[in-house]
Amino acid sequence: MISFDLECGNEHRFEGIFRDYESFADQMARGMVTCPYCESGDIKRLFSGCSIQARPSTAAVIDRKSPNIFDMMRLVESYVKENFDNVGSDFAETARAIYYGAEEERNIYGQSTQEEIRELLDEGIHVLPLPSPGTAEN
Ligand SMILES: [Zn+2]
Repeated sequence: MISFDLECGNEHRFEGIFRDYESFADQMARGMVTCPYCESGDIKRLFSGCSIQARPSTAAVIDRKSPNIFDMMRLVESYVKENFDNVGSDFAETARAIYYGAEEERNIYGQSTQEEIRELLDEGIHVLPLPSPGTAEN
């Protein structure tokens, strides 16, 4: 069983549980996935923001005098956005390519699903979650 974070056209968020990815894709293709709140069939998958750091030595500097967790999260996020490459929704693929040496080693961030993050972690690839969705920047 796998679960996906889903959102309908009316911005209702809910979790969809499916037998496997194929079952999810099939039900999505046939418009069988509907919102439990408003029964809308206009469903999309939500992607979570995440990042991966190829060189753990370059850590974000956090001001210890301001222990506000929200400030800290903002700091980490702005650090990541300034220093990491945004690979958008290709995150999982690119992270894997770097990990296995198919691509040049670098720090990246982007969007991925909970499932993809779980798979990356299972493969020993260290993914750091970002506080907010890694929205694509122009
Ligand atoms: Zn809805």
